[in-house]
Amino acid sequence: MINLSYDRQHIWHPYSCIPPKQTPLPVRETDGHYIVLEDGRRLIDGMSSWWCAIHGYNHPRLVLAAARQLKKMPHIMFGGLTHEPAIDLAEKLITLTPAPLKKVFFADSGSVSVDVALKIALQYWMARRQPQKQRFLTVRHGYHGDTFGAMSITDPENGMHSLFSGVLPQHLFAPAPLMGFNLKIDEPGEDIQSLASLLEQHADEIAAIIIEPIVQGAGGMRFYRPTYLRQLRALADDFNVLLIFDEIATGFGRTGKLFATEWAGISPDIMTVGKALTGGMTTLAATLTTEEVAFILCSNPPGVLMHGPTFMANPTACAIANESISLLLESPWQENIAQIEAALNQGLTPLQKHPSIADVRVLGAIGVVELKDEGLTAPIQEAAVRHGIWLRPFGRLVYTMPAFNIKIETLGQLIEGMVGAIQDVTENFPVKQL
Ligand SMILES: *Cc1c(COP(=O)(O)O)cnc(C)c1O
Repeated sequence: MINLSYDRQHIWHPYSCIPPKQTPLPVRETDGHYIVLEDGRRLIDGMSSWWCAIHGYNHPRLVLAAARQLKKMPHIMFGGLTHEPAIDLAEKLITLTPAPLKKVFFADSGSVSVDVALKIALQYWMARRQPQKQRFLTVRHGYHGDTFGAMSITDPENGMHSLFSGVLPQHLFAPAPLMGFNLKIDEPGEDIQSLASLLEQHADEIAAIIIEPIVQGAGGMRFYRPTYLRQLRALADDFNVLLIFDEIATGFGRTGKLFATEWAGISPDIMTVGKALTGGMTTLAATLTTEEVAFILCSNPPGVLMHGPTFMANPTACAIANESISLLLESPWQENIAQIEAALNQGLTPLQKHPSIADVRVLGAIGVVELKDEGLTAPIQEAAVRHGIWLRPFGRLVYTMPAFNIKIETLGQLIEGMVGAIQDVTENFPVKQL
């Protein structure tokens, strides 16, 4: 028996208190696309454990890669030593990401890789003898993680900056990009114009612009147009600031491209990856930079990148990541994601007419239903479990990002369960049965 009362009394879960308002569900094991609860109920996983488990759980190839590496060398310090799993993985990342990205720093989580990206940008300007370039420019509704560096550039409201005012550095926030992946604007939109005017006023103190490309994830599940990123690239060059893309959520296929930056056909100067990097098996993230950024940083005082986590480039995590990337590239991932996109569009779009629903949007293997009101998060999650699926809504957002290799029937049940859970909780509205 899982000791739930011990959990309730002693353990923090994400964004919770002790004891928590909502008791977590005890999980016995995972099985492919299912989460098996202690009482034997099997839930179809709609969350990929927060963007991570893109091949489903317990994939035999990932389990084998982990077991082999654990036997050979579970971990070794990375200071003064190196190993094949890290070198293989660096080569894969450099090959798959946009061509200018050539150097890799392995970090232990997404937030840490974001902090490293910020640190690289700061050290780059120190090395270029412009140490006054210490601020970051970003957009509202962003999410970059929970460490202090990452939190300081996360949306001021979602990131609860007021709680930590006086502790967090004051960075610059432009309005969020207008919503709509397919939004057509010929001239630079008002969103990019506001960002440009902040650059005009502050470029001499800005080290970098940081943004999640195409999909703003935890800050609102907002999709925006690729032209915005192209204009951002041009602005960064014109105003002499670095451009950082946080691909932690979007990387490894989720939006339909291997990396979301490919929609715009441009490259950032610094890029972070994480989440699906290991197929959801263990924690690992990385920060990539261009040759130029690394060269300048290393050729001038202090001459080294001042970061070195204890578990840097953990061999087991790297070996799993190598296998997960191979598995992805060997699979028909583009077709799989296109199929998921079509099914999500077909299944969720009827909800658009529902009086309680503000918006339905789908991109790649991401389906989002935005409600008009907050406060339904817990009841919808509970209803989802009754429908045999696992969702984790937040705020006004009910969303799913299934594994890419989910069977089409299972996906159908997932979507049906999602629609059913939303209908159960909001007013009964006749949405066409799937
Ligand atoms: C999840 C996420 C992070 C933080 O990653 P952790 O591994 O949770 O620290 C940073 N940026 C984005 C875009 C994310 O989705």
